[in-house]
Amino acid sequence: MTTDDLAFDQRHIWHPYTSMTSPLPVYPVERAEGCELILSNGERLVDGMSSWWAAIHGYNHPQLNAAMKMQIDSMSHVMFGGITHAPAINLCRKLVAMTPERLECVFLADSGSVAVEVAMKMALQYWRALGESRQRFLTFRNGYHGDTFGAMSVCDPDNSMHSLWKGYLPDNLFAPAPQSRMDGEWDERDMVAFARLMAAHRKEIAAVILEPIVQGAGGMRMYHPEWLRRIRKMCDREGILLIADEIATGFGRTGKLFACEHADITPDILCLGKALTGGTMTLSATITTRNIAETISNGEAGCFMHGPTFMGNPLACAVATASLSLLETGEWQHQVATIETQLRAELTPAAQSPWVADVRVLGAIGVVETTHPVNMAALQRFFVEQGVWVRPFGKLIYLMPPYLIQPEQLRKLTQAVNDAVTQETFFIH
Ligand code: PMP
Repeated sequence: MTTDDLAFDQRHIWHPYTSMTSPLPVYPVERAEGCELILSNGERLVDGMSSWWAAIHGYNHPQLNAAMKMQIDSMSHVMFGGITHAPAINLCRKLVAMTPERLECVFLADSGSVAVEVAMKMALQYWRALGESRQRFLTFRNGYHGDTFGAMSVCDPDNSMHSLWKGYLPDNLFAPAPQSRMDGEWDERDMVAFARLMAAHRKEIAAVILEPIVQGAGGMRMYHPEWLRRIRKMCDREGILLIADEIATGFGRTGKLFACEHADITPDILCLGKALTGGTMTLSATITTRNIAETISNGEAGCFMHGPTFMGNPLACAVATASLSLLETGEWQHQVATIETQLRAELTPAAQSPWVADVRVLGAIGVVETTHPVNMAALQRFFVEQGVWVRPFGKLIYLMPPYLIQPEQLRKLTQAVNDAVTQETFFIH
């Protein structure tokens, strides 16, 4: 890649959450293989991010590549209106089989954010069909559900800058973020504010929406499963729907196939994305119960009012089916458990640093929360110099590698994190 290419990129291309006037540096990647990203200068970086939770089987996986190559030769895409095809049917068969029994009607869409929009719209249409005007969502602070407006309206108000969209965003209800930790004791007082909010607005709330067990981009917080059991009961009592956004946590990342399994609960609507295609293509699924699907269908619209152009994209469905087949071997369980053990052993020492506020690990997720925000550009450069790809943000340095990472590769990642957190220069203070 030439300096001219990079100059063009800087001048003309937006990157995620990036300024067009003073963008942070970007690193040109030419190839990705297994658990490594290969830069255009030939440097190899061990990947600690799985491309934001997605590449669970690593990069350039032969079975995933084969599925896409085979599908391309028959059709990459056809519209889904009035047409169906084997790739979508094969995928949905697997999704229906691997998710809880009550979840059986699948809506395929393009991205995680759209899956959340679809879930919220399902809840709104469901209540409308029942003749009740329920148009608010109850959620936690520190949540993250995507960047489209509906999704943003249930993201943490501060992190997603609700002040910017005042008057435009729907006014949803925010309970304090859970305090009882996944690795700690359940504290009964944790529920009080949530229960009060629900009671005060019980007839306005269409659904509770949450990220089960792990709040991702809103803080990488891991909370007690009792929360989910309680919320499930409260929702059942009030008839309020429960939407589980497992876009980040789904497909084994937390040590269970789906994070709801930590509490043994079933949501009414489940959102999946990211790792659905093993990180190769963009695709999401929103899965609901027969009752919700039928209620919506019997409402005034006579159908669910959504239908994206690339709905059920055959190429994405084919590779998603291949990715689920890899998960069906069950190998991920051992891999994730091994990663968890190693992350615990090798990240815990980071807590000794005066710059570290907390270390937490669950499944193949390791989080080091720092006392001060990190200098992202400097820290990113340091990580690249160490031969690892770790993308910190705010006060969070975290690892969520592909499941097939080898112990020595993971050690390289944890070593780099441990080295980083001892160096004052990486913290803004
Ligand atoms: N929900 C959660 C829990 C997520 O982590 C994300 C992505 N970070 C989304 C929704 C949105 O997904 P996408 O970026 O594919 O739109």
